[in-house]
Amino acid sequence: MKALAVTPGAAKSLHVRSDVPDPDAAGAQALVRVLEAGVCGTDFEINDGLYGRAPVGFDYLVLGHENLGVVEAAPAGSGLGSGDLVVSTVRRPCPERCAPCAADQNDMCLTGHYLERGIGGLHGFMSERYAEDPRYLIRVPPSLRPVAILLEPLSIVEKGFEQAFRMQERTAWSPRIAVVLGAGTVGVLAAACLRLRGIETFVVGREHSGTARDAFIAELGIHYVSTNEIALEALSTRVGRADIVFEATGAAAVVMPAIQLLGPDGVAILASVTGGEQRFDVDVATWNRQIVLGNQLVFGTVNAAKRHFEQGVRDLEALEARHPGWLGRIITRRLPFTDLDGLLKRNPNDIKTVLEFS
Ligand code: BGC
Repeated sequence: MKALAVTPGAAKSLHVRSDVPDPDAAGAQALVRVLEAGVCGTDFEINDGLYGRAPVGFDYLVLGHENLGVVEAAPAGSGLGSGDLVVSTVRRPCPERCAPCAADQNDMCLTGHYLERGIGGLHGFMSERYAEDPRYLIRVPPSLRPVAILLEPLSIVEKGFEQAFRMQERTAWSPRIAVVLGAGTVGVLAAACLRLRGIETFVVGREHSGTARDAFIAELGIHYVSTNEIALEALSTRVGRADIVFEATGAAAVVMPAIQLLGPDGVAILASVTGGEQRFDVDVATWNRQIVLGNQLVFGTVNAAKRHFEQGVRDLEALEARHPGWLGRIITRRLPFTDLDGLLKRNPNDIKTVLEFS
């Protein structure tokens, strides 16, 4: 079958190939025909040779972890049937079966030896078909067909929020102001979910204000602030002290200033996997004082478990009901999966590019 693949470690190796073995859906696996795959920053990093690992026995990696497919065949008793729309989770447990992996929390793996489809050690979803254990598949209602490709990036947001809200049970907490750093897909989805929870939300990005994206998020009552117009360090004077900071820029330099935006009892959710090295001169005494005297919380979050995808389904439904058609406009480009030139062209106004497989 056809697939989009890279040679891990080699820069700019993305290619279409036709010799990828058809998935073997023997035994307890479901066979899924891929409808769409989303393109994200991680895919670009893998294509830059910075990240990614081929499965054992292969010298290439089928790319893609943001996925939407339709079940062609499923084992009896799996709860899935032919024609069901499904989204697959990304991570698989480590071979050691550490305590979290053994408890179906491989997003919290202790050994770091987990596998990730389309990223590390397992082929991804940018292929015509794939086979998977049904317990990693989330069934999606047909009404969400146009937007379900957003579920994987949304699962990252949901995991961050679930942890933040659980940890904040430590106090009587009723967050009023949230700052989201990054106006990409994860940032926009995070902001939309914060609005859904009634929180005044500011998205901070590098692009000037007044763009189409700005107007788009304003439809949900989300404010856009450009760091071209106000320095991140001065943001609190404009928006007040944040109860929640959600960092999703992928830029290491904003992490420390982002934490400094927190108000008392505030929580900072760090969700960017930053590459390379970045030095930052910090007054640790002031930073520590702010965190200690403010009872603040800063935590990192990556990947997501099945329940986060399930919460994502509920939030997609709620957003579609409240703002019909809005979510679908996060998908700014749809391309046939063989259009590599189109895929690699990054347009500043794009939010999400989706590849169509069938
Ligand atoms: C994916 C996560 C993955 C992470 C690190 C992200 O782009 O959405 O599922 O855990 O990359 O590899």
